Amino acid sequence: MFLKHRFETDELIMLRHLSGRMQLTSKDYSHYLNLEKGFDGEKQFDKWLERLPDELIIVNDLLLEYSHTIFQIDSLLITGESIYIFEVKNFEGDFYIEKDRWCTTSKSEIKNPLLQLQRSESLLRRLLHDLGFNFPIKSYLIFINPEFYLYQAPFNLPAIFPAQLNRFINKLKMTSTSQKDKNLRLSKKLISLGLKETPFVRKPQYTFEKLEKGITCLSCGSFLNPLNKNNLWCQGCGFKEDITHAVIRSIKEFRLLFPEKKITTSVIHEWCKIIRSKKTIRRILLNNFELFNNGKSTHYE
Ligand SMILES: [Zn+2]
Repeated sequence: MFLKHRFETDELIMLRHLSGRMQLTSKDYSHYLNLEKGFDGEKQFDKWLERLPDELIIVNDLLLEYSHTIFQIDSLLITGESIYIFEVKNFEGDFYIEKDRWCTTSKSEIKNPLLQLQRSESLLRRLLHDLGFNFPIKSYLIFINPEFYLYQAPFNLPAIFPAQLNRFINKLKMTSTSQKDKNLRLSKKLISLGLKETPFVRKPQYTFEKLEKGITCLSCGSFLNPLNKNNLWCQGCGFKEDITHAVIRSIKEFRLLFPEKKITTSVIHEWCKIIRSKKTIRRILLNNFELFNNGKSTHYE
């Protein structure tokens, strides 16, 4: 049973929006692709976890803090006897380990995922101890991508490779599910301690003026075109959406990218670009947002 689901982080959503509206630097763009890929891998792992019996509690995407150190757990599973933590990696291609260094066969070094996992385990252990829970913790790296290969993988590496996933999940299905109340109490406690978003997000440089305007397609990210009086459509993938939905979606995007800017009819009219009539924008704003009028100017929240 998923007690906490996984959502895209604001950082990923923001980069997704920006990548369609501006040229990201190559560093920002590859960071963005890594986030997309990581999220995709985590969702694939969720599909495996869905097969577990309902009594096992799964808490996804926990961002916790212990003694001024922030750590993140991709998936946490509580069974009757243990806590499992999973660090999901969607690596693709050939890798090898040399001492503590993880490298691709093209010789570029990546962050050692095992150190990351061990750090999370140690911080979680201390946190649980302070909360008065003494569960043994078992941590695993989950390599979800069937195109991943690790040369010279040590026998005792706490990792599950794609060819082992099915057996690993089947084994988890057999674990005991005693102490249900205690497990539920602990999961709720951990969720309540969870931070909303990591404070270290590095934002690319952008301004309203420099971003390309228009309403992007929900399905493929291209810009939508008018189809008829009430609908927009995407030439790229055929996706159709009614104008009201599309505009509201676009306002949410605007709000995420420009939290400091006021939402006004003119700004949103310019932002959406393809809605010719300002009246349409005003109607959608009036029907879906609260109007604030301070005498001089009007905006919506
Ligand atoms: Zn599309």
